[in-house]
Amino acid sequence: MMQQKEFQLHDEVEMKKQHPCGTNRWKVIRMGADIRIKCMGCQHSVMLPRSEFAKKIKKVLLSPGE
Ligand SMILES: [Zn+2]
Repeated sequence: MMQQKEFQLHDEVEMKKQHPCGTNRWKVIRMGADIRIKCMGCQHSVMLPRSEFAKKIKKVLLSPGE
């Protein structure tokens, strides 16, 4: 079985590839079939299918929900 990375709403995460603005810190602002994350550097937000997000996430930095 493949290991699933745990993440939830409001987590701050690091992605495998940083945003062009130079920041690699994102906040999960919407969870569903699609995940919306917001760049903490420039406030730009992007929507990704959950499967794609799971592939591109590097690690969870902060999980305030726990
Ligand atoms: Zn940015």
